[in-house]
Amino acid sequence: MMAHKFSPQSIERLLSEERCNAVKPHQFLRDCGLDAGMTVADVGCGPGFFTVPASNIVGRKGLVYAIDVQEEMIRILKRRTRRKNIVPLLSKEHRIPLDARTVDFALLAYVLHEAEDKFKFLKEVKRIMKKGARIVVLDWKKKREKEGPPFAERLALKDARRLVEEAGLSVDRVSSFGSSHYIISALK
Ligand code: SAM
Repeated sequence: MMAHKFSPQSIERLLSEERCNAVKPHQFLRDCGLDAGMTVADVGCGPGFFTVPASNIVGRKGLVYAIDVQEEMIRILKRRTRRKNIVPLLSKEHRIPLDARTVDFALLAYVLHEAEDKFKFLKEVKRIMKKGARIVVLDWKKKREKEGPPFAERLALKDARRLVEEAGLSVDRVSSFGSSHYIISALK
């Protein structure tokens, strides 16, 4: 079964004030260890809900690669912001157009459950991470809810954690984020 991709037609859901108040993306990224001067990969960036706050945190000496497989998402992101420290990149399903060991921090926000081959995808993200870089996976808990992706498309925390570990990343923090989401934080 082809993994379902979030439709660019529904981006207002990703950019709503309600979501911003609930997630507080700036605070979220700070709490995850994002800091000034870092090079970040926002993999599966969509219209840039996390990309823009990430660019505020890393500042002029840092860089945010905003990466997505959907051309329409990249187009929308470019329309929303033209900041010098944001580099939008169109990727392939399991191929990110960056050299190995480029980033200090990789964010996978609500994207792992959409990847066709989750293991291959994580290995590819690991490839672009520097040694000692951090990866943060934020995704939906495997439960039936009105909001969010259908139950069948969700990836359980234990399965996501196993995949991250099998990809060769060292998990050092796992937590709940609100009642619907989980965070897995790991180092290369
Ligand atoms: N991270 C953003 C956020 O939280 O607002 C967007 C989340 S949206 C639910 C998931 C995004 O991941 C979509 O824009 C989709 O195109 C992208 N995506 C799905 N599979 C991907 C892959 N293999 N590589 C890169 N991006 C992918």
